[in-house]
Amino acid sequence: MKRLFLKTLIAVMALPMIGLAHADSKGLVAVSMPTKSSARWIADGNNMVKYLQANGYTTDLQYGDDDIPNQLAQIENMVTKKPKVLVIAAIDGTTLTDVLKKAHDAGIKVIAYDRLIKGTPDVDYYATFDNYKVGVLQAQSIVDKLGLKQGKGPFNIELFGGSPDDNNAFFFYNGAMSVLDPYIKSGKLVVRSKQFGMNKVGTLRWDGAVAQARMDNLLSAYYGNAKLDAVLSPYDGLSIGILSSVKGVGYCTAQQPCPIVSGQDAEIPSVKSILHNEQYSTVFKDTRQLAKVTVAMIDAMAQGKQPEVNDTKTYNNGVKVVPSYLLNPVLVDGSNWKPILVDSGYYTEAQVK
Ligand code: BGC
Repeated sequence: MKRLFLKTLIAVMALPMIGLAHADSKGLVAVSMPTKSSARWIADGNNMVKYLQANGYTTDLQYGDDDIPNQLAQIENMVTKKPKVLVIAAIDGTTLTDVLKKAHDAGIKVIAYDRLIKGTPDVDYYATFDNYKVGVLQAQSIVDKLGLKQGKGPFNIELFGGSPDDNNAFFFYNGAMSVLDPYIKSGKLVVRSKQFGMNKVGTLRWDGAVAQARMDNLLSAYYGNAKLDAVLSPYDGLSIGILSSVKGVGYCTAQQPCPIVSGQDAEIPSVKSILHNEQYSTVFKDTRQLAKVTVAMIDAMAQGKQPEVNDTKTYNNGVKVVPSYLLNPVLVDGSNWKPILVDSGYYTEAQVK
């Protein structure tokens, strides 16, 4: 009897601290997210809260509405609450130097979440995906679908980039261009607008309406008599805007199919669009994994251990190389959306059909 009691006690003690009534035993973690306008950040916030609470932390989650001063004010307020760790997905990665100095002086650790925080020594770790590879995958899907490796072409393509205040946007663009450049040089891919480089093709705040308006302009200026075969788009929200624009001038019909359009984040409207043969591909980044990696970093720091990282070279923020954990992004198109998105439990089939 005594032994049974002991065994039960040990088993209960070994249970993970899920659903603690007073979950503050391990302290407060503050999470600052950029915007609710995109489903991925909502999923990121929800996952972070879920895993943090399951591991015994209390949480303070706030969204910055894509407004830089707003996010700054939220983080300043968080610092006054003295959390153990601040987890930040920055709207503008260059605007947080002063507030992070205050955080550092107060002994608060800082993790850059998905987006690098730049120009400060006061960022401890970076949890993200292999952002360069995201761009490589986007471009490869276009190259494969067009049959460029088989020598087909020339084809017309236009290039879109993400927000120039987000470090990731440069990694996506550079990764993509590493694949597209040889075909552009050989003339098999033609950018009729001649708009290259993030300063020309960037899309401030990742705004789909801005991408749509730019696509409208490109179509009327350069495609009066020419066919647009492909569009490099770094994010699903932009891809949907780009597709609306091309539909407006008669693409996406039986006679005139949509151009091949890439994307990122496997957002539901884009997965639906892929299933309707409109958007061609997206890149899935499993936000559950990102939240898990981040919580593992927090736990390691709480125990005075070194968090696990797998990259200590790539992410120089201008002041230091931030030790990073990079997760693997996965290309999704009409051929594999079911195993990757549905069988993994990320979405139900009903959500995307
Ligand atoms: C993220 C992407 C996302 C984009 C727009 C980037 O920083 O890495 O996943 O598509 O922001 O929200």
